[in-house]
Amino acid sequence: MAIKDYLTKLFPKSLWVYHVNTGACNGCDIEVINVLTPYYDAERFGIKLVGSPRHADVLLVCGPVSRQVASAVRRVYEATPSPKLVFAIGSCACGGGIWHDSYNILGGAESVLPVDYYVPGCPPRPEAILYGVAVALGILPKKTAPVVARQKFLDVVEANSGEAISPEG
Ligand code: SF4
Repeated sequence: MAIKDYLTKLFPKSLWVYHVNTGACNGCDIEVINVLTPYYDAERFGIKLVGSPRHADVLLVCGPVSRQVASAVRRVYEATPSPKLVFAIGSCACGGGIWHDSYNILGGAESVLPVDYYVPGCPPRPEAILYGVAVALGILPKKTAPVVARQKFLDVVEANSGEAISPEG
């Protein structure tokens, strides 16, 4: 089975995402945007970046949460209709990263939001972000680490396509 067909099966429903920078250095933001470029082409799977949290199913949160933006981030969450998912993208969003004990940092995204999935890395590779979405869709057990999920996912794709696929692919 071609990878594209297989992925289309795995992502049968559209997921509209809203990107939130809570104080990131822009490294994670670049990778989130990278996922949406024609190279990774997440729109093939119905994953689309939207300009308002009111239209979103998923919040992609990048960066440690600074005191300055905490209330604004909460308002973004409240403006997103339920059901909704929150992804913490990158080590900073997962737990504060190298800034965790800074005077102006509250911590990772979970310090102000209920986070559903964590995609670690500094920054995470675009593939890891895509695999995080695969976890969200129930393809893999909840709370499975994206790196592990990614490897399992590649095994399945490889088995179905009959082609060797490099994990670094
Ligand atoms: S995880 Fe790394 S790349 Fe992402 S915001 Fe933090 S320092 Fe920047």
